[in-house]
Amino acid sequence: MLKVLVTGGAGYIGSHVVKILGERGCQIAVIDNLSSGSPKHVLYGNLWILDLSQKDKVLSILKEYQPEVVLHFAGSIVVEESVKEPLKYYENNVGNTIKLLCAMKEAKINKFIFSSSAAVYGIPEVIPVPETAELKPINPYGWTKVMIERILEDLSKAGEITYVSLRYFNVAGADKEGKIGPSYRKPTHLIIRALKAAKGELPFLEIYGTDYPTRDGTCIRDYIHVMDLAEAHFLAMEYLLDGGKSTVLNCGYGRGFSVREVIEEVKKVTKRDFKVIEREKRLGDPPVLIADNTKIKKVLNWTPFYDSLEFIIKTAWKWEIKN
Ligand code: UDP
Repeated sequence: MLKVLVTGGAGYIGSHVVKILGERGCQIAVIDNLSSGSPKHVLYGNLWILDLSQKDKVLSILKEYQPEVVLHFAGSIVVEESVKEPLKYYENNVGNTIKLLCAMKEAKINKFIFSSSAAVYGIPEVIPVPETAELKPINPYGWTKVMIERILEDLSKAGEITYVSLRYFNVAGADKEGKIGPSYRKPTHLIIRALKAAKGELPFLEIYGTDYPTRDGTCIRDYIHVMDLAEAHFLAMEYLLDGGKSTVLNCGYGRGFSVREVIEEVKKVTKRDFKVIEREKRLGDPPVLIADNTKIKKVLNWTPFYDSLEFIIKTAWKWEIKN
């Protein structure tokens, strides 16, 4: 039985990956500090409630458990917060990843899958953006991902690890069985906030910026269903176990929807109307982010299954009304 260790496995994306791994018979150890995740979302495996800063404890889990692969989701993810509290981001994301990699080295574990982000591209010059685009983040969050990718590249060159870094675009939706879903305490993401407005939990939805150089003036994003992203992790793991070499892959569908288009679809799916207010631009939002996904399709033979904004919103809505 394949043994894997998942950091951040109680969080939104991590818990969906744990579900897939568990369904497919992997033996799973999860490390999570529960800062944003929930133990209820860990459907398989053993959960260790632990912060990655506790290197000695992480090391003893690695040594005892001996996973073949580490999937590293744990990290702070709120862009605006990273601008206000950069040190928290550098410490939690970069610092703790270094500690984890040191512990892996000591425990002789050398396969690593990393949760990176389209934030590494900043405001891309070419759309859809390929992995070869220049890395020029516009916020500390994005810089933490670039720095970690750099560390991984150097370790790989030194022959210490092989890794796959997955650069996520806009992850949304929930498990279609409705068992797990997004679990943010203070959600900032568009689809979740729009659903909360539809539910009446928010009095209105704000659109941040309506004069972007896009078809309707609002930002365009490549929304990818969390289960397609989870599948990409599974394939990346198989790829590494088959001896695949280190690589960096975009995770998106290669198409985009504007904020207004998302709002329309949310109203359609939920059959509810809600108040929408146009506001100033949010700091650090690129106008358009769409993935060039040629590479992941080729390298991992990844085939998107849920490429439908309607389906993404339907699964997220099902989860939202249940909770
Ligand atoms: N957005 C918005 N209202 C909200 C939340 C987000 O207009 O309540 C916009 C945001 O400015 C961006 C897009 O929706 O253009 C997607 O934002 P989100 O936070 O979901 O993801 P990001 O692309 O920032 O990672």
